[in-house]
Amino acid sequence: MKVNEIMAALELKHPGEKEYLQAVREVLESVEEVYNQHPEFEKAKIVERIVEPDRIFTFRVTWVDDKGEVQTNLGYRVQFNAAIGPYKGGLRFHKAVTPSMLKFLGFEQTFKNALTTLPMGGGKGGSDFDPVGKSNAEIERFCQAFMLELWRNIGPDTDVPAGDVGVGGREIGFLTGMYKKLAREYNTGVLTGKGMTWGGSILRPEATGFGALYFTSQVLATAGKDIKGKTVAISGFGNVAWGAATKATELGAKVIAISGPDGVCQIPGGITKDMIDYMLVMRASNRNKVQDMADKFPGQTTFVAGKKAWSVKCDIALPCAFQNELNEDDAKLLLANGTWCCCEVSNMGCTPEAIHAFQKAGILFAPGKAVNAGGVATSGLEMTQNAAHLAWTGEEVDAKLHWIMSSIHEQCVKYGKKADGTIDYVKGANIAGFMKVATAMLEQGII
Ligand code: GLU
Repeated sequence: MKVNEIMAALELKHPGEKEYLQAVREVLESVEEVYNQHPEFEKAKIVERIVEPDRIFTFRVTWVDDKGEVQTNLGYRVQFNAAIGPYKGGLRFHKAVTPSMLKFLGFEQTFKNALTTLPMGGGKGGSDFDPVGKSNAEIERFCQAFMLELWRNIGPDTDVPAGDVGVGGREIGFLTGMYKKLAREYNTGVLTGKGMTWGGSILRPEATGFGALYFTSQVLATAGKDIKGKTVAISGFGNVAWGAATKATELGAKVIAISGPDGVCQIPGGITKDMIDYMLVMRASNRNKVQDMADKFPGQTTFVAGKKAWSVKCDIALPCAFQNELNEDDAKLLLANGTWCCCEVSNMGCTPEAIHAFQKAGILFAPGKAVNAGGVATSGLEMTQNAAHLAWTGEEVDAKLHWIMSSIHEQCVKYGKKADGTIDYVKGANIAGFMKVATAMLEQGII
């Protein structure tokens, strides 16, 4: 394969799909050399097939808001790749959702899921519905209308959605309720991230953030460092940022900043348990303002409007919010302030230029598909518990999550170790995930 030729053809077929093309290029550049050592891949046109989703469902979602006005949104489900197992991946509700965004997320999900060691294919879905400022009743009506369209295309052995940005436990509840009503299928395994009394797995809400910190600790340990006492800056205050802040604090690090679309909340003394709990209230309020944290804890915090978490001096940067949220200027600022580790917790949280700046400076950097895989891995564990009609204890789930994150780290080391002994985690994660999916596709023939 020649990456530039593949990308030129893809750009013609999918003009303007910025995020999708960015994600594909990043993976292909990492795997080019290894791929070209496998003529059997070239013969079966694996790369041409692996970059395209199996299929995409697009549908209209119509619902009525609290004022009685009719609202129309677009809904999607991208079934990207099922070579390793049923389609698996979250639903994103955000005003900026487009097919390009969901295709990039489905593509990334395919390799991330392969890294987890569990039998899950890749998928993603969502809507341009904007949860900001919506009431609970509006969220419920929207979720019901969304499922009215989606239900025929999903199932415990075909496609298993979960949460993502804008979709948490509450939304999964409304979606599951409507699915049962429509499908008359009461199997608990059709969505993951469920409530604890109706098929959810202990630790699923925490899993993405916890897994990310287990992975970060291993990245640090491999470089002869320890997370204890280090300062950490986090973007976002959703489910993922909450889990990351909780585990970072538990491991002895000091979370000194969290940010939102309105600015950054600096916490010089480190985030407290009350503040971590308050992150959940902020998420549930649908206000999307980090200033609320500063207003709630005056004295301990300072709010700076219009600034990102990356403006705060820290040892470790953890992007936990959205794709491309850390750009080249942010990377340069972090480097100038002495940051020596960045682990992407959001999917594609850093722009290619930012990653390049980190790699050029030789600091520790690990990509989202490895760092945040603990979330979907625990969804996979939830599917296993549902299929077996049982529930594991928190200790059992945590032990499995630990094992999975270690195994992902091992795969990154195996494929990403450089001549000087340091690890290129981007290359390692991309090659490990790609090889697994490509081999599965090859073995299953031309379909
Ligand atoms: N949305 C999460 C991710 O990006 C979790 C998906 C899932 O649990 O299926 O991996």
